[in-house]
Amino acid sequence: MERPRVLETAETMRAMRLHTPGEPLVPETVSVPHPGTGEVLVRVLACGVCRTDLHVVDGELTKPKLPVIPGHEIVGRVEALGENVAGFEIGDLVGVPWLGWTCGDCEHCRAGRENLCPKAEFTGYTRDGGYAEYTAADARYCFAVSGYTAEAAAPLLCAGLIGYRSWRMAGGDEPHRLGVYGFGAAAHILAQVAVARGQQVYAFTRPGDTAAQDFARRLGAVWVGGADETPPEWLDAAILFAPVGDLVPTALSHVRPGGRVVSGGIHMSDIPSFPYRLLWEERSLHSVANLTRRDGEEFLALAPTIPVQTETRPYPLEQANQALDDLRQGRFTGAAVLIP
Ligand SMILES: [Zn+2]
Ligand SMILES: [Zn+2]
Repeated sequence: MERPRVLETAETMRAMRLHTPGEPLVPETVSVPHPGTGEVLVRVLACGVCRTDLHVVDGELTKPKLPVIPGHEIVGRVEALGENVAGFEIGDLVGVPWLGWTCGDCEHCRAGRENLCPKAEFTGYTRDGGYAEYTAADARYCFAVSGYTAEAAAPLLCAGLIGYRSWRMAGGDEPHRLGVYGFGAAAHILAQVAVARGQQVYAFTRPGDTAAQDFARRLGAVWVGGADETPPEWLDAAILFAPVGDLVPTALSHVRPGGRVVSGGIHMSDIPSFPYRLLWEERSLHSVANLTRRDGEEFLALAPTIPVQTETRPYPLEQANQALDDLRQGRFTGAAVLIP
């Protein structure tokens, strides 16, 4: 006679899985993962839909495990503990971010740059993510979440963290006039941080996107316009969230001598060639890759003190493909969140 398993959760779960890049996610019933050593089993309460998910689904990021459950802005309850888990108990509200595992031993990990670990694993890309009822995650890379509902917290887990890392890379609260290109999930969080620090936010949207422009104005931007428009003042720094390479020379042409342009996305269309004078006078161009756990701890402590408020658009899990398509087409402001 078969004995009942120790796991008290369901045996199977609903999940949206990617089998073939370029094709829609497939709704499926799959086994609930078992938490391995050091892992927590998380019942997903909310999972944000990030532009990186689009790059995975569209095949622009070329090394997913297949099939894969996307999603790396996960907030849920710890449902079961694997062996040797420290720091979390059953019932805790946790966030599971993009950085899922690092080696801890390479030169980058040792130097506090675990975001650059060549062996790093990523949630919803090389590990299964949160477009499902449950996910298993290495507890060392999870964050405690408090001060927010699961739905409101989900976008903080990537849009918030990457925006924060980009903002720090752009000089933190030092630049007075801060340009933000692409006013979606990341920008709407970052704008609140910058405004709270007394910075002036210049928001650039798709030309004619009045909904995004009104949204940016409502969040305190001092100037809003299309990405084809020239701001009335030099910018001290600029952050690109739109995955559009054409915006790199545009942003460089808008920052003052010595100003910095930071690209926050993981993928971007090709950058066109541009005259050296746009980079001349000690302007600089940086990319931001992934996150460190320190970014997460700092930002998740900072966000409720401002307090950052996220604007979310909930979708049922089964409508993940619709949510991705709406994101691609810019059909909503703020952040899409799947609710299993
Ligand atoms: Zn490493
Ligand atoms: Zn993301």
